[in-house]
Parts: sequence; structure tokens; C-alpha cells
Amino acid sequence: MQILFCASEIYPYAKSGGLADVGHSLVKALGKHAEIQSVMPLYGFMPKEEFEKTDIAFSVNLGGVFYEVTLYEKLHDGIKTYFVDAPLLSATEEMYGDTKGDYANNDIRFALFCAAVVELAQIIHADIVHANDWHSALVPLLVRRAKLKIKTLFSIHNLAYQGIFERDSLARVGLEESYFQMDALEFYGKVNFLKAGIIYSDALTTVSPTYAKEIQTKEFGCGLEGLLQLYKAKLTGILNGIDETVFNPQNDAALYSCYSSDTLAKKYENKKALQKEVGLSGLKKPLFVMISRLVHQKGFDLLIKSLDAFLSEDVNFVLLANGDEEYKKMLLPYAKKYKNFKFLCNGYDEALSHRIYASGDFLLMPSLYEPCGLNQMIAARYGTIPIVHRVGGLKDSVYERGNKCMHGIVMREATKKTLIGAVKRAVTLYGNNAKKEEMISFNMNCDFSFDKSALLYHKLYKRLLP
Ligand code: ADP
Repeated sequence: MQILFCASEIYPYAKSGGLADVGHSLVKALGKHAEIQSVMPLYGFMPKEEFEKTDIAFSVNLGGVFYEVTLYEKLHDGIKTYFVDAPLLSATEEMYGDTKGDYANNDIRFALFCAAVVELAQIIHADIVHANDWHSALVPLLVRRAKLKIKTLFSIHNLAYQGIFERDSLARVGLEESYFQMDALEFYGKVNFLKAGIIYSDALTTVSPTYAKEIQTKEFGCGLEGLLQLYKAKLTGILNGIDETVFNPQNDAALYSCYSSDTLAKKYENKKALQKEVGLSGLKKPLFVMISRLVHQKGFDLLIKSLDAFLSEDVNFVLLANGDEEYKKMLLPYAKKYKNFKFLCNGYDEALSHRIYASGDFLLMPSLYEPCGLNQMIAARYGTIPIVHRVGGLKDSVYERGNKCMHGIVMREATKKTLIGAVKRAVTLYGNNAKKEEMISFNMNCDFSFDKSALLYHKLYKRLLP
């Protein structure tokens, strides 16, 4: 069984969120069961000189315009990744957009990527292409349109990002006008790339069982709930995992001090060093941390509304987040006003994020919706207790009662009252050392690997083939 996994970002090459982590850890776990290779765009900020040029090159015709494509490759952690090199993909500074917004030609950029993936799939004789999110969503359509003997699995990591473009986009990416219909790509007078993944794939997954149900409702369906109900027979929710070798407090080079559940005193060394690094005093106070894209989904409106009450508690708070400039402007005055709040917003910083996971006592995750969420798993692995809103994958992975992995503090709804209530429960728990340490040890010994879920994906792959 030959699988080609495609995504717009894959760790460690390019990452803006959980998709990149999954692109690495799922593929690595699947490698134990199937022949799998991955493919992603070669962006301008990536070190091309570190990749090997292959002899695979072709041109792609999108709406009568020809684009030259060359494939590069690299082996990392036992996985071969191909990189699609084309001026359109590498010309930009970022993956998807800059401070002014999304790049205007993202439709052509990612249609080109999809066309290149389909070409590569034929060259390497892939049996299945596993495509992810809207950037790869044209793959199932192109495979079906060309009547190829390739099966496609499409995974939705976040339904809110759909790749919506003006009607003339169809012609720009070389698709026939017949796709401009409600049961194809048309979406309220525009063109919706994600619909292609949902409609034309042979199997459909999303990243947690609860999110699979939620996206069929008006509240979480982002306008696609009807379509998802229609295709629910081929939809499965499979919970993500993490690569426990990338996120391992026992040998993480980014940490000030490595530790395990048996040497928790060393976790405290990390807290000491981080507080010094960011200029926070009061080591005895509980340290709350949050590491997130700065977007509405992650509960920033709720957080901002609750900040005065939250920061008036005897706590410290470190927030590592970047994204929406408006939120940045709203949060910065709080960092000026409160000495117990540090807002780190100077871009994406993987090593710093690891140090923060290791230093925190509690990780805050008041997401309004959360397809799966990896932060809570990473935090638990580093002995930082998650505080989550009971939604999507958070509902499937964090429990305040019972004996299931993992233990945390759960907000039943996303309101200021429940957020402050959760913070107060955390402060009380912090005062009970024995209970807190029992919880931390339990969490650190949970299995967050992708092994179980990779088996479910593998089963799905097998079902697709004759
Ligand atoms: P999403 O994919 O919605 O962003 P996830 O919880 O699935 O959320 O994954 C987020 C990943 O991105 C985690 O690995 C988290 O540590 C990381 N992350 C988010 N923001 C930053 C940042 N500013 N710096 C470093 N890592 C970050």
C-alpha cells in the first residue's frame, strides 16, 4: 500500500499550528504500517539548499497558463518528504498571508500545489492520497475528474478555514464552469475549495469524534453543516496524538532543565528560569500559561473580558501568541497595567513554547471551538495541568472527574464566570500539593502518541482499496 500524504505545512519544515504537527507525527506513526511519503510546498523561507533536487519536473496547466514545477526531497525521522518548488509558492514571505491579509492569489498558489500533488501521486504510483484542509482540497476533485485509479482520503483539521474565492477563481485555476453548482464548489455565490475535499473524497475524517458530530450542527458547521450531514456516512472522527519524542521533557534540548514525573523538582527549575527570563516575580504563585495563535477561535475575546478579574488573583500569567493585530492592540495595555502578566507576541517561537510548557503550572485553553487541540496534550506531557472549555477534541481528551486520560479543569461553557471559576479551582488545587502532584504524574504517564489513531487511519486506508 503506497500512500502520499499532502499538507500545506509539515513540521519541522513549516508550521503555523497543529496541522504541521499532525503532518509529522501521524505520518511517522503510519510509517510502521504502510509505505507513506509526504509532500508540501517549498516556501521561500525554507532552506532549499538543504533539500535534494529530484529529477521530477513538469509543467502544470491552470486555465491556459503553464507553471513550471520541480520536486525536491528530504529524509527526516525516517520519512521522505517531497517539496513542490514553483515561483508562485516560494515568492511570498509567509505561507498564507501577511499583516495585510491572505495573499490574493492563494487560489492559484494552492490549486497549483494540488495539481502537482496529483501529478506526483501518479509518478510514485500512490494507491491513496491523504489530503488535508482547504489548501489540498482540490486533490480529490482532480483525481476524480481525471478518472485516476487513486483513492483519496480528506481530513478536516479546522472547518472554519474553507478557501473561499470569487466566482472567476474557477477559470483562474482551470476548472470548468460546471463546478459552479450547489452540489459542487458553489457557496453563496462564491467558490469554496473545502467543498471539493468533502464531496469528491472517498473517505472523510476530522480530528476528534466530538468535532465530527459538532460540524454537522449549525453552531459549529460554518455553513457546511448540511453538506456534512449529507456525507456523514463517509465521515469519521479520529483523535490526534503528538510525537512523544518531539515533546519529551526528559530530553528536550530547549528546556532549562529536563525532568520526568519522578523528578518534578526539576520542573520547578524551569519555572524559576522562565520567570527570570521574562521578568516575573513571585515563584510561589501559580503560573498560568497560554500558547496559541492569536485568533477568535482560541477564546481571546473571553480572555480579554476576564483579564481584570483573572489578573487580580494571586497568579502569574505568560501568554505566547501571535496573529491578529487587533487582539495584540487590546492585550498590550494589560501587560503594561499588570506586573503579573507577560505577553510575548514577537512571532512564532518553537523553543520558547517548549520552555513555557515546561514552566507552567496550568495551561489555559478557553477555545470557543477546538477541532482537536494539541496544546492540552503537550501541556499534560510536560506536567502542566490543562484548563479547557469542554468542546470538540478538548471534550474527548480532558476530564475533571473519573480516571480517563488526561486530568484537568473543565469549563462547561465559555463565559467569564466559568473561566474565573476554573481559575479559582486551579488556585485551590495549586495549594494542595499532594493532589496536584498526583494529577501531574498521572498526566505525564498518559499515552498521547499517535499509535492508536494511526491504526484507525490505517484501517480506513485498507477499506478504500480493493
Ligand atoms: P491550532 O492548530 O488550532 O493552532 P493546536 O492546539 O492543534 O492548535 O496546535 C497548536 C500548535 O502550535 C502547538 O504545537 C502549539 O504549541 C503551537 N503554537 C501556537 N502558537 C505558537 C507560538 N506563538 N509559538 C510557538 N508555538 C506555537
